[in-house]
Amino acid sequence: MAVLVVGSVALDSVETPFGKADNALGGSGTFFAASASHLTSVQLVGVVGSDYPMDQLRALESRGVDLSGVEQVAGSSFRWAGRYPHDLNSPETLDTQLGVFASFDPKIPERFQNPEFLFLANIDPELQLNVLKQVTNRPKMIACDTMNFWISSKRDQLVELLGHVDLVTLNDGEARQLTGTNNLVTAAKTILSYGPKYVIIKKGEHGALLFSEGKVFFAPAYPLETLFDPTGAGDSFAGGFIGYLAKTGDLSEENLRRAVIYGSAMGSFAVEKFSITRLMEVDKSDIESRVAEFKKLVEFEQEVNV
Ligand code: AMP
Repeated sequence: MAVLVVGSVALDSVETPFGKADNALGGSGTFFAASASHLTSVQLVGVVGSDYPMDQLRALESRGVDLSGVEQVAGSSFRWAGRYPHDLNSPETLDTQLGVFASFDPKIPERFQNPEFLFLANIDPELQLNVLKQVTNRPKMIACDTMNFWISSKRDQLVELLGHVDLVTLNDGEARQLTGTNNLVTAAKTILSYGPKYVIIKKGEHGALLFSEGKVFFAPAYPLETLFDPTGAGDSFAGGFIGYLAKTGDLSEENLRRAVIYGSAMGSFAVEKFSITRLMEVDKSDIESRVAEFKKLVEFEQEVNV
């Protein structure tokens, strides 16, 4: 089953303790598509300016990503600059230039208007709500992501959006910011009370938690020796997670748990190199071996007679 994703298609300038990248392919939609396309077909909707290196973005087409919903308009592309001075879990945003994104009004092409899986990647919550209005039949699953920038500037619209989605992914800092509580279990409960059936709280190198009413599942992060650039880990996680659900079409609790592991595996690849480089290199066997490593990571026998 195909996944429709609406998100940012950006140029990222990133500085980590291991190096720098300038104007590299980035954006929530781009990372999501690069990741999910390993598991299912992806339709990407976004906007770029006249300065965007479309030839580089087109590499995604070879992975089965339909780019016909990416509009190129006159003006500058969305640019994000960030750095990770010490803590690789949370970037310091140095600059956000909305460019053509400021007047972006996503138009979902007619043939994309009936998706089985819809991912509203991190963009302005007002735009995420606009996209929902254009979808004709209710998808099997609607999921969304967000970030601190929108929680502080568009909180009301974000809370409204949460009333229409099945699942939201956000990182621990964002969950705390959105709910005004430090305890993540309480924060997850509060977010569930806004409407979604599932909340995934990502904790960077400390793994991810999947919450639903009265239940919680935890997946560790893969212990990597070569963590290069954490940018895009969250979107790649979402790509692996939704991509796996779309591939299998199974929304049972056990399958959602497996999907969290696929998400964690894809996130772990994304951070091994700058931009989407590593996501474009890996293949099915790399992904399956990493998922198997995850299984080994948490497997243990409980001794009952202690
Ligand atoms: P993450 O997966 O959370 O690391 O997201 C990283 C991506 O988010 C980067 O490639 C940025 O281009 C993109 N980004 C940063 N700020 C924003 C924003 N305000 N709206 C949409 N996308 C953003």
